[in-house]
Amino acid sequence: MRLLLAEDDAPLAERLRQRLQAAGYAVDTADNGVDALHLGDTEDYDLVILDLGLPRLAGLEVLRRWRAGGRAMPVLILTARDTWREKVEGLKAGADDYLTKPFHAEELLARLGALTRRAHGRADPELAAGTLTLDEERQRALGAGGRAIELTGTEFRLLRYFMLNPGKVLSKSRLTEHVYDGDSDRDSNVIEVYVRRLREKLGPELIETRRGQGYVFRG
Ligand code: CA
Repeated sequence: MRLLLAEDDAPLAERLRQRLQAAGYAVDTADNGVDALHLGDTEDYDLVILDLGLPRLAGLEVLRRWRAGGRAMPVLILTARDTWREKVEGLKAGADDYLTKPFHAEELLARLGALTRRAHGRADPELAAGTLTLDEERQRALGAGGRAIELTGTEFRLLRYFMLNPGKVLSKSRLTEHVYDGDSDRDSNVIEVYVRRLREKLGPELIETRRGQGYVFRG
């Protein structure tokens, strides 16, 4: 899951970036509204965390321009003070959720999880397919009878993206976009290697290859 974090408070942004990466998100950062606007317009994010008090271009304006341009990714706004007016303006501009600073990282992660589920039309908080479930907290899979299947960070991110999009044809380039951040060396051939490893761990039938198109997760 690829996420844009737009926050100009450098220590806070760094703390959040580390926490989000540890939680299995590929994170890009922007410390001003102009960069945030550009990244959100050109990259395909699964989630955005947007501070409203950004330099160069206010967060509210960034959000309005994204929505006016048809960008529909879920956006959680961060507001500095507990002012109801700012939250209302943010929600009216197209925000999906908000948090007031200071907040606990756990609450942010829980809200991001809820936004992701909603964006993918899921009511169940647990990702499951057949006998397989994903333990997002511990970043591992559970097989039949609750058998734990350990995953590396990349395997976890890739499997979560597959499980959020069952039955859809996912190209290698799309998978690469959503599993890696903008700084990573994004060679889409590497996806083949990770798909092979997931098949070895989870069984060969879960991920189907569509020649010339990509992969389909059999959820
Ligand atoms: Ca700020």
